[in-house]
Amino acid sequence: MIYLDNASTTKLSDEGKNQINKSHDFFWNPSALYGKGLEVKRLIIEAKKEICGALGTSYSDNLIFTASATESNNLAIFGSIKKTKEQLIFSQGEHPSVYNCALELKARGYEVRFIPLTDSGEVDILAFKKLLEKPTAFVSIMHVNNETGAINDIKKLVTLTKKKYPNATFHCDGVQAFGKIPVNVTSLGVDFYTVSGHKIHAPKGIGALYGKNFKKLKPIIFGGGQELGLRSGTENTQYILAFAEVVKNFKIKENFNKVIEINKYVKDFFAREKIASLNSSKNTSPYILSYSFEKVRGETLVRMLEEEGIIIGTGSACSSKKGGLNRTLEAMGKSKEQNQGAVRISFSGKSSLEEVKIATEIILKTYKKLLDKVV
Ligand code: PLP
Repeated sequence: MIYLDNASTTKLSDEGKNQINKSHDFFWNPSALYGKGLEVKRLIIEAKKEICGALGTSYSDNLIFTASATESNNLAIFGSIKKTKEQLIFSQGEHPSVYNCALELKARGYEVRFIPLTDSGEVDILAFKKLLEKPTAFVSIMHVNNETGAINDIKKLVTLTKKKYPNATFHCDGVQAFGKIPVNVTSLGVDFYTVSGHKIHAPKGIGALYGKNFKKLKPIIFGGGQELGLRSGTENTQYILAFAEVVKNFKIKENFNKVIEINKYVKDFFAREKIASLNSSKNTSPYILSYSFEKVRGETLVRMLEEEGIIIGTGSACSSKKGGLNRTLEAMGKSKEQNQGAVRISFSGKSSLEEVKIATEIILKTYKKLLDKVV
């Protein structure tokens, strides 16, 4: 099997697996006051330092662990938005774990505005500037789009926001950026930044939220007051330590260079064969490629490829689809046909050029077979 759906999830790495096995022995409650509990607490703080270091901040109190990026996004949004008449701005391309929070806020009566995307998938800066003419309390814009890999210039977007509204909160969903492209939350200037374990070969069910100043945040679940009182519930020590162990072994530059080569191979291949149009264009992460195949449905191609041992995706879970259409591609102005024919091919640092060469040949063959059936 050749797995090329790494934007959806990744295989747990050996370091992560070994760390989980080892840390079964650290079962003591980190909130306990006896020595063993304090030892576990210390390990959790070390884990925070490791992840904070990789995010470009050194203070372990700048990070809290959650059970997923979905939870981190919900916490950053619902935990920081106060009762206000000022507008809340989200991008049109956000992952459902942010986008559906925006819809919920709208349903609760907040003034919610969406920034359109350019045809290459980034947020439209001119449209954002126009939106900022109205008083703004909160902005949430993702770093790397999970459907197309488009990279938003977060530093610029934060600067534009804070120049007009120094007290506005800026949240960024960094799930598809962390561990893949350089991330430095301090230089980006964000208030909150979300990351997830399972996109980078750490376990599923562990996420984290960076906060420049957690005083801006209120909990959304209540209990024993763990994680600075912001995320109650006994800490998931095993997964926290595994997450940190994976981060400790990050090879961002090395993997990036390898994935650039893989990405170029795929782009050259499809450009030569002229069977699909590239939806990811200008400023994109090399880890994600979105293609629209002509005259076929992406889902059908994905299912046929699975029978041939190739796993690719049609994009984020169905919740991102409106009437079967992908919201991000729709916001980029893609036609209904382009949208229906879309697939996502996504890599990880563990992908190899050899397997991708095999996969592209099989994709070509399978597409031609499918085309013969439909025309
Ligand atoms: N944000 C982005 C950009 C994602 O790609 C994903 C996962 O697909 C999530 C959030 C949700 O992550 P999790 O599965 O950890 O909740």
